[in-house]
Amino acid sequence: MTDTNTGGDVRLTGISKTYGSFHAVRPLDLTVPQGSFFALLGASGCGKTTTLRMIAGLEDPTTGTVFLGDQDVTDLPPYKRPVNTVFQSYALFPHLDIYENIAFGLRRRGVRSVRKQVGEMLDLVQLGDKAKQKPHQLSGGQQQRVAVARALINHPRVLLLDEPLGALDLKLRRQMQLELKRIQTEVGITFIHVTHDQEEAMTMADQVAVMNGGRVEQLGAPADLYENPRTTFVANFLGTSNLIAAEVAEAGDSDLVVKAGGGTLRLPAARCPATARAGDRVLVGIRPEKISLTPAEDAASVPDGRNRVTGRIADSSFIGVSTQYVVNSPAGAELQVYEQNVDRRAGLVPGAEVVLHWDPVHTFGLDADQDIDAGVETVEAAS
Ligand code: ATP
Repeated sequence: MTDTNTGGDVRLTGISKTYGSFHAVRPLDLTVPQGSFFALLGASGCGKTTTLRMIAGLEDPTTGTVFLGDQDVTDLPPYKRPVNTVFQSYALFPHLDIYENIAFGLRRRGVRSVRKQVGEMLDLVQLGDKAKQKPHQLSGGQQQRVAVARALINHPRVLLLDEPLGALDLKLRRQMQLELKRIQTEVGITFIHVTHDQEEAMTMADQVAVMNGGRVEQLGAPADLYENPRTTFVANFLGTSNLIAAEVAEAGDSDLVVKAGGGTLRLPAARCPATARAGDRVLVGIRPEKISLTPAEDAASVPDGRNRVTGRIADSSFIGVSTQYVVNSPAGAELQVYEQNVDRRAGLVPGAEVVLHWDPVHTFGLDADQDIDAGVETVEAAS
């Protein structure tokens, strides 16, 4: 056993997987902190399941090493690795009751006194009253909780979850996200969760690795990824971003001033590519909920110091908690604006001329040498 642990519970070094000439996972280094809830997020085909299966030992890596704690497990078969996997299909034993489903792993290992541990697991997943029922008598969410209990009773070092909520309807999925997060916090072991659902990853995970085309495009805490995307793919895949093509007019130490849509916008230099110089092209990003709308006739009421662009409302959708506007502007077509429904805004109807304005600190800059729409279609395809 080599002592190469650097604080990670799971550490992948130079891990890759090719099928013939196809690169499913490009060489990747990844450290999953001990006790964290970690999500591998990406659209279908990005390589997230293959990465999970290499950790589980269900897939041999083409190159690289898998460490669990300080142990190199690359050449160990799945059953010798201290991990358990929960799949989308719960694969419970239909003829066994819930109690026996959960006890299965212990019984297989010859543990005779299972009552205390099974009782603890039933409590953990809040199914004590269902112990004597058969799987088909439970809802999908309850069955998935049994699958989690059945895996956790083996005390794995790491629990791997492969789209475990994929078969549930949206409302149940939301409940189970919170439930899984609670269970993880309670047991404190490392969970690695594979999902294509960005809201799911952000709700549950401490750390998210956003994968695209077999690579980890960006890794970080959900709020950090959301506020500071470094690529157009992450900006578009994680929530919605308005990306505006611009040219740098002045690159100061604290701020950049850029020209876009016939006007100027200001953004913090710390949130832009470090190399941006006057004359360079950049993409200016702003999230829809950061933008306010003011009817053009009231433009004088917009406070000084805010970034502003003009536009015309093309569409508005009332969705209860907020209203979502689509605004066409010289700065960009179909800009998205989300306003909370505190007061209904009578003048903001399709066709209305408006000023879009926001605090410059909420603006981020991205390298212009990327596809401005990366990640947009993949969200639609995945949902
Ligand atoms: P999904 O959510 O659809 O499962 P994913 O991001 O988990 O997508 P993977 O299952 O890891 O993606 O697959 C990554 C790529 O590798 C895909 O393009 C897939 O078609 C390909 N792939 C996976 N397994 C094999 C295999 N056994 N042989 C050939 N290609 C494969």
